[in-house]
Amino acid sequence: MKIQKIELEIKKIPLKTPFVTALRRVENVEFVRVSVVCDDARVSYGEAPATKAITGEDLESISKAIANHSEFFYGKSPSESLAILHELPIGSSAKAALDMAFYAFIDAQMFDVIKRASERRCKQTAITISLNQKEKMLFDAKDAIANGQKILKLKFGSDISHAIDVTRAIQEQFLTATILVDANQAWSLEDSKSFLDLFEGSNIDLVEQPLPANALAGLKELKEYSNIPIVADESCFTLEDVKDVVQSASADIINIKLMKCGGVTKAIEILEYCREKEVFVMFGSMLEGPLSIAYACYLVERFGDIVKYVDLDSPLLYAAEGVSLSQK
Ligand SMILES: [Mg+2]
Repeated sequence: MKIQKIELEIKKIPLKTPFVTALRRVENVEFVRVSVVCDDARVSYGEAPATKAITGEDLESISKAIANHSEFFYGKSPSESLAILHELPIGSSAKAALDMAFYAFIDAQMFDVIKRASERRCKQTAITISLNQKEKMLFDAKDAIANGQKILKLKFGSDISHAIDVTRAIQEQFLTATILVDANQAWSLEDSKSFLDLFEGSNIDLVEQPLPANALAGLKELKEYSNIPIVADESCFTLEDVKDVVQSASADIINIKLMKCGGVTKAIEILEYCREKEVFVMFGSMLEGPLSIAYACYLVERFGDIVKYVDLDSPLLYAAEGVSLSQK
C-alpha cells in the first residue's frame, strides 16, 4: 500500500458562544482537513486546528507545511511516511494532521473511527467555562449543568481575586459538580499558593498550568505545597517534555493533546511512558474538528486505565448538533 495523493481543505464550524481563555478569544473552530489517498483506493483523513497562541501555527502555516512536503510521501507506505514525517522541521499541528491520517491506514480500529466519527462517544468529558465576568461564567456553568454536564473546567486569567471569587461561587452553587481550574500559565507563584490555600480540602479536583510553561521548579513547589493535584499542560508538548516533568516530579497529572505532541503515534508513546511510570493523564484538545476529537476518544478508550480526565468538549461547543465528516 503506497500513498498516492494528499489534499487539503479549510473547514469552519461556528461555536454556540465565543471561547475565551487567558490566551485567546475565538468564535469559530477553524481547521485544516487533510485527505490521504492510497493506491488501494482507501482514503484516510486528519485534522489540525489553528491555535497560534499555543503551537504557533495558523491555518496558512499548517496548510503550507503540509502542501510543501506532500511529495515526500508519494510512493511511500504509511509506516515509511510516519518515519519521514516526524523528522520534518514543521509544526506539531501540521504533523498531527498527517500523522493521524497515516496511522489510520495501519490501525484498523483507528480507520474505523473515520466512518463513525460523528457517533463516537467518550467517557464523560469536562466542559469548558470560558473566561468571562463572574455573572456570565455562573450563567454558563448553570447552563452546562442543566444540559447534563458534571465536570466543569473553569478558565481563568491573571486576576486571582476574580478566579477565587468565581470558583467559590460555582462551588457553592453546584455542590455535586466536579470542578477543574485552568489558569493557562497566568498566575504567579504567590497567587497560586493563595488559591490552593483557600480551596485545599474542597471539591476542586485539580489546578492546571497555574505557572508559565517553563516554570517547572515553581510547579514542583506547588505540587509539594498542596494536596490539590497540579496538571502540566503547556509545559508538556513532546515525550521529552513529559519525561522532564515526570522525572522532576513537577506535576501530578500530564495533559496530552494530539496537536501538542504531533499526532496519534506520538500520543501513544507518551501514554505508554505514563502507563509505565504510573502517572495519570488528562486527554485534552484544542478547539478541534470532529474527526481529530474522535481519534482522541479512541485513544482514551485504549488507555482507559491511566486517562483520569477527558477534556474533549469541542463538539459540545459547536453551534450545530451532529456535525460530522461530511460537514461543509
Ligand atoms: Mg489547559
